[in-house]
Amino acid sequence: MEAEEFRRYGKQMVDFIADYISNIRERRVLPDVYPGYIRNLIPDHAPVEGESWEEVFKDIERVIMPGMTHWHSPHFHAFYPAANSFPALCADMLSGGLGCIGFTWASSPACTELEMVMLDWLGKMLHLPEEFLFCSKGPGGGVIQGTASEATLVALVSARNKVMSTSKTNVKDDVPMEKLICYASDQAHSSVEKAAMLGGLKFRSLPVDDALSLRGDILRAAILEDRAKGKIPFLVVGTLGTTNSCAFDNIKELGKVCSEEHLWFHIDAAYAGSAFICSEFRHLLDGVENADSFSMNPHKWLLVNFDCSTMWIKNRHDIVEAFSVNPLYLKHDKEGQIPDYRHWQIPLGRRFRSLKLWFVFRMFGVKRLQAYIRKHVDLAHEFEELVKKDHRFEVVFPVTLGLVCFRVKGPDALNGEVLRLINERGRITLTPTIFKEMYVIRFAVCSKDTKSEDIRYAWREICYVTSQVLATRNL
Ligand code: PLP
Repeated sequence: MEAEEFRRYGKQMVDFIADYISNIRERRVLPDVYPGYIRNLIPDHAPVEGESWEEVFKDIERVIMPGMTHWHSPHFHAFYPAANSFPALCADMLSGGLGCIGFTWASSPACTELEMVMLDWLGKMLHLPEEFLFCSKGPGGGVIQGTASEATLVALVSARNKVMSTSKTNVKDDVPMEKLICYASDQAHSSVEKAAMLGGLKFRSLPVDDALSLRGDILRAAILEDRAKGKIPFLVVGTLGTTNSCAFDNIKELGKVCSEEHLWFHIDAAYAGSAFICSEFRHLLDGVENADSFSMNPHKWLLVNFDCSTMWIKNRHDIVEAFSVNPLYLKHDKEGQIPDYRHWQIPLGRRFRSLKLWFVFRMFGVKRLQAYIRKHVDLAHEFEELVKKDHRFEVVFPVTLGLVCFRVKGPDALNGEVLRLINERGRITLTPTIFKEMYVIRFAVCSKDTKSEDIRYAWREICYVTSQVLATRNL
């Protein structure tokens, strides 16, 4: 493809995406295909001679679309939102076009510098304590990781390194790795357990209170108990906005225990973090001042397309010491004057992801981003009211942000059947979870275009399916 052809085909692609997003309501939200479907639609080897753009383009609809779950459909209410906006798409296009691999400052200064400023911008929008920001001139700062899972792993490896060594060359002999243990609540995302598994460390999942919140006394008791057994507690991951129910750990209490007991405190606010740009939700982040690191995903709820998980750390030397390796071919003569992000992450290569933040922040502005979050929360409350008004259903957890956890009154199997049928019909999609030993249906407001009419559409579908299932059960 030459530049002139790219001009033409690229515009065609932009039109395709604009049409796709504009007309997404018309598509069945869930695909109706079986595992292996693509093998029947395309050859089993790459073409020897190149094909035309037209041939490739027409296969998007024929091959890809039948197997797509339409995450940006206003009828998608599963998991949590995946952000999508036109400014972020334009920025991603530019990032692809520039194609730099910004592992050091020298490998593309703009890539590092814009990221530093964007992490400060977002940190200020969240009212993070100054210590987390580059502009404080202290050792804190922010970085874009690919995912919240990576951010947790980076925090865990940094904390492990900190507890095991006083410096890179001075490993404490008296800290055997097998004795290290980290904690999170039994509601924390599975990525915490996975990080411990990858780090070769023990993980202990702690029970929560009735509000599904991990409390300081439970944590302290676990630390003391494990120390008495000769273990070395070193890290706690607190969650703000759990995946199951959008519950909030008591980070004030957890942070206090971590400070007193000298454990690293990481906060995972993958979904809920975006809401803290609104003053009425910011109190949920109170206590972050005691954290060593904090992460949230603009790629979930801040209109920045995947992948963009922002992470702040109070002392960047902790991360850099854990992740530094220094072959000659990566060195440059400005080292030490500005961060080299290769020391802040697992891979070497990195995309120019801060462009997405820059375009989105500038084109929406803080006010419209706040309005977007508030709209989602209002829509969740609208759904909550519909559930509450129908005696057949119950809301099983307080609604704080854009997630409503509800169920049909009755056995778990009944709820499982209702959900199975809803997803089989494919008009809307929802996901289940289990907490308090109860099967629960999660309804998340996900699409940036969700309107009140979509909430009512979803509710009609849920009621229709529930009536069918109850009728067959003669209930
Ligand atoms: N943490 C929480 C609280 C989440 O809800 C999720 C995903 O929904 C994750 C972590 C994992 O996010 P990622 O896919 O960015 O690793």
